[in-house]
Amino acid sequence: MRLMIDMDGVLVDIMRGLEKEFDILLHPWPKGAYNPAPLLGFTTDELWHSDRLSVEFWKNLHPTQECTELMSIIKDYNYYILTQPVTGSCAAGKMWWIWRNLPKAYAQDRWIITSAKYVLATPDTILIDDCDNNIKSFQDAGGRVITFPRPWNKYRDRCDKPMEHVISGLEWHHAEMQRV
Ligand SMILES: [Mg+2]
Repeated sequence: MRLMIDMDGVLVDIMRGLEKEFDILLHPWPKGAYNPAPLLGFTTDELWHSDRLSVEFWKNLHPTQECTELMSIIKDYNYYILTQPVTGSCAAGKMWWIWRNLPKAYAQDRWIITSAKYVLATPDTILIDDCDNNIKSFQDAGGRVITFPRPWNKYRDRCDKPMEHVISGLEWHHAEMQRV
């Protein structure tokens, strides 16, 4: 069994970084929204290609509150950090971030930067991600999924206890795989 874990919104607190960079509070999060760009007054392209989202921005983002616990759970699996870059600066900053915050994962090549996460979907691969669209395309491609509950996805009603949702999801997939 392989485990793929997303960065932004799961291991990395991108929303807090955006709030700080643009001096806007993204709270309470509007129900049904996923894209932070309009909430910050930009189009999607304007936001991700903004000069303010430099290598330094991506490199200096804080880990989420759950990052340490997530890493301590997934370290026992054949895991990979799986992340989609929006620009070259973003890809470079993400490499720095992993090197600095998760040096073991970096040194062991446990990271994949790609725009096509679904290509890695197999019946014994689980993706943990906070993006409903990524979850859907990974599942459609034959992979297993656990949505990390956040205010911007379908599991928003569980976002006060996201780790419970992840742990029970892992248990469920384990049992399922043994049944097959
Ligand atoms: Mg994400």
